[in-house]
Formats: sequence, structure tokens, C-alpha cells
Amino acid sequence: MDCIFCKIVAGEIPATLVGESEHSIAFKDISPRQPIHILVVPREHHSNVAELAFANPDALVDLVQLGSHLAEQHSSGSFRLTFNTGTEAGQTVFHAHGHITSTTPKK
Ligand code: AMP
Ligand code: ZN
Repeated sequence: MDCIFCKIVAGEIPATLVGESEHSIAFKDISPRQPIHILVVPREHHSNVAELAFANPDALVDLVQLGSHLAEQHSSGSFRLTFNTGTEAGQTVFHAHGHITSTTPKK
């Protein structure tokens, strides 16, 4: 399967990793739209967050836990966690991922 996030999970293409856990990895978005913009990505391939929720709920909980830890480390602790789901909603990479965004980096 030609999936860019599977290749990052496998270490086949580089990314700026900022954290990892049993089921997830996290790296900086290549095109940040906020001062803090981190992607949290399940190691397993599922095409969006809804599919992940039904197929592997433990992995979704793990992803949210990793994202919230990183938000606390990198931001004021006030953050958004968004999952674009479907082309019309702006999803461009069809491997589930959450965007952790914050306007306020940690001092
Ligand atoms: P979405 O539009 O919700 O599917 O989000 C995909 C995100 O992946 C976008 O914010 C892109 O900037 C980001 N992205 C695409 N390729 C890479 C990459 N190689 N490394 C890091 N982030 C990426
Ligand atoms: Zn994938």
C-alpha cells in the first residue's frame, strides 16, 4: 500500500518525531498552520478515525493520551485535537491521524 504515514511509521521516510507510545507515533506537521502543530498517528493503518474507533478502540484511546501528553509538554495546555474525516472535510492523507494544534507554545 502506498501510504505516506505507514512509511513514516516504518521509518522509511523521515519525520520530526516528538513522541511515541504502544499504538501511536507523533511527529511535527510538515506544513504547520499553528505555532504548535503535531500529528498523532496510529501505527496500524486505518483510513480515518471512525474506522480506527471501530477496529481498534484501544489504539484510539492511546492516540488521544499521547496527544494530550504532548500538548501539555509543548503548549500552554490549551489545545485542539481535530480529525478531518473525508475529502470534503479536508482530509488529504487517508491514514487516520489527529491534529494537535495550539496558538501558545509553552514558555
Ligand atoms: P489532513 O489534511 O487532515 O489529512 O492532514 C494531513 C496533514 O499531513 C497535513 O496537515 C499535511 O501538512 C501533513 N503532512 C503530509 N505529509 C507529511 C509528512 N511527510 N510529514 C509530516 N506531515 C505531513
Ligand atoms: Zn497507512
